[in-house]
Amino acid sequence: MTKLAIHGGSKVKTTPFSTGERFGIEEAKELLEALNQNTLFYHFGQKVKQFLADFNKMYGVKYSVATSSGTAAIHVALGAAGVTVGDEVITSPITDQGTIVGVLYQNAIPVFADLEPNTYNLDPKSIEEKITPKTKAIIVVHLAGNPCNMDPIMEIAKKYNIKVIEDCAQSYLTTYNGRLVGTIGDYGCFSTNDFKHISTGDGGIVTVNSTHQEDYFKAHAFADKNYQRLADSVARDIEYLAPNYRMTELQGAVGIAQLKKLQWICQTRNTYGELLTKGMSGIEGIEPMKITPGGWCTYWFYMFRLDESKFTCSRAEFSQALAAEGIPNQAGYIPKVLYQIPLLQKKQAYVDSQFPFDLSDQNYEAGSCPEAEDILNTAIRINISEFYKIGDIEEIIEGIKKVSSYFQRKK
Ligand SMILES: *Cc1c(COP(=O)(O)O)cnc(C)c1O
Repeated sequence: MTKLAIHGGSKVKTTPFSTGERFGIEEAKELLEALNQNTLFYHFGQKVKQFLADFNKMYGVKYSVATSSGTAAIHVALGAAGVTVGDEVITSPITDQGTIVGVLYQNAIPVFADLEPNTYNLDPKSIEEKITPKTKAIIVVHLAGNPCNMDPIMEIAKKYNIKVIEDCAQSYLTTYNGRLVGTIGDYGCFSTNDFKHISTGDGGIVTVNSTHQEDYFKAHAFADKNYQRLADSVARDIEYLAPNYRMTELQGAVGIAQLKKLQWICQTRNTYGELLTKGMSGIEGIEPMKITPGGWCTYWFYMFRLDESKFTCSRAEFSQALAAEGIPNQAGYIPKVLYQIPLLQKKQAYVDSQFPFDLSDQNYEAGSCPEAEDILNTAIRINISEFYKIGDIEEIIEGIKKVSSYFQRKK
């Protein structure tokens, strides 16, 4: 048997992973044009407008609003959807905390539904079990580029008359039965923070998938202190609270150039993710990432699970052995499911206050979403980059095969 690198054997990966430049002269040209406008305000300049027009065209949507972050985009969708004090919002326990920040700023209560074991996305059955008369919205999280099972989710939403907000921060150009995620629910929320498929430094977009212009106006105003800039006469009367989440012209400018690269980025990531799945299928004890039936995944990262009963090592040992082979990886994703963060355990959204949790009997007990907890305890995450070469992917697979075969339990 080949000696593992962690035991002093030779490494699988001996050359550096291929890298590349995310930003170039295209972004610089747009930025210079933005500055030459003599304004960096989205409503007066043309860059944010162009960015949104390009995005709308690519997505085939009529309305979208630019924001300062993905977290802001989700808050805007919640505000526009009318989520307010004491409402419940169902979401996934494996996500970025940005998914629930807006829920709490609206003084609504996050409720967590469980996940499917290998897509890592919300299980429609679990969503339905969590619905109460207080449920106002579902935030579906399309994790790592993989779409949620949207048909049953939209049916549930229709049945109970609740809004669907899609968190697409990790899922640019992901499709579900031929439809782009972000265009299926009532709102689609995207992030352009520096770690996503495309970056404007920070930023976000909300699609408003309504045929009613007033819904678009509402979302637009909610990102801008409830300033009604799109109405015939600018209304400054404010009927309820809304934050300032405006995008600047500088972000819009970079976004225009970044969007032109998005198709290539997503196509490449899809190719690499599919190659990883193919390469690891059939390895005893390894459960590759499962793409939702009807889905096309743009792999923001790649995550597989270990069946520890099939190995003589722990997940930590597997992960370390793989890293020693020259394959960077992380054991798990977020350190624990979202409902186990202190904020929710202590029910403290605001320092020294129990509000809004005191309006609800929602509990965040360990074990309440067992599959989600299990996923985090057994997963190994591999970074994917559009700048990798096929050879890099082949070596990742080779590393996983080498470590697996060393630790496989003999029958
Ligand atoms: C990144 C991310 C967010 C938040 O986006 P920011 O731009 O960082 O605020 C929300 N949800 C998910 C799933 C994310 O990955």
